[in-house]
Amino acid sequence: MKVILNGQLVERSEAKVDIEDRGYQFGDGIYEGFRIYQGCIFTFDQHIDRLFDSAELIDLAIPYTKEELKDQLTELITANQLGDGMIYLQISRGTQMPRNHVYSPDNHPVLMATSIAAPRDLAAFEKGLTAITAVDDRWLHCNIKSLNLLGNVLAKNQAAKAGADEAILYRDEDHVTECSHSNVFIVKNNTLITHPANNLILNGITRQTILKLAKENKVAIEERVFSLTELKQADEVFISSIMAEVTPVTTIDGEMIGTGVRGPLSTELEQYFIAEIEKTCGI
Ligand code: PLP
Repeated sequence: MKVILNGQLVERSEAKVDIEDRGYQFGDGIYEGFRIYQGCIFTFDQHIDRLFDSAELIDLAIPYTKEELKDQLTELITANQLGDGMIYLQISRGTQMPRNHVYSPDNHPVLMATSIAAPRDLAAFEKGLTAITAVDDRWLHCNIKSLNLLGNVLAKNQAAKAGADEAILYRDEDHVTECSHSNVFIVKNNTLITHPANNLILNGITRQTILKLAKENKVAIEERVFSLTELKQADEVFISSIMAEVTPVTTIDGEMIGTGVRGPLSTELEQYFIAEIEKTCGI
């Protein structure tokens, strides 16, 4: 298994990072996840653009051009003969000694990328998942795809301990934001509603693709804040991420959502999504 470390394809077992790396000590860095369908990186440019946007927001200069990075990731897919899967890429602000909150302009960012095989589970997208609600106590820069994921990790584990698949987060009872590692949409009276893209959510690439497809297909859309009551009384609820695509939520805090099975708009949007993959990846 090959990975990328600082521009080089190396064996996984040979890829080592310094213990004084700022990513390790401070979570000082950013990451990105890419979905691969039969060797094709879906919405590649949007993910690369989001990575560079996150880098800029934390004042980190990526030492490669977008094209160089795209070439490296394409080589990784070829080297690992990846079919359906994902690439995890992270860039930290590099090694700095002694440990210091103030970062130095002399640091060399450390970039690594790994790939994993992950077949598409269309049956899981149809069956849906269960969720709990949890307080969103993360910081106020959730638009940055930062390595600091402790708030997300704790929320996801709160869900796991409750026997649920995902945690839907809220700032207060009138303000649902997103999930621990996905975005959330509700459907009410055939209108698709999701939190606006601001500093309180990560603007998922899947979220953006779904909104684009909904618009093209004349689905009514509202990008606005909604409450816990609206969430639980919605006709349909679904989450989105590169791995989940459009996955319905069938129960929240043990309460059934809609009819408890994938609703008509969730089904329709997943079909548009599949068509988009086929169109852009030629599969
Ligand atoms: N929101 C959070 C907090 C996430 O971590 C993720 C994915 O990692 C998403 C939303 C969904 O983003 P995407 O559709 O780009 O996978």
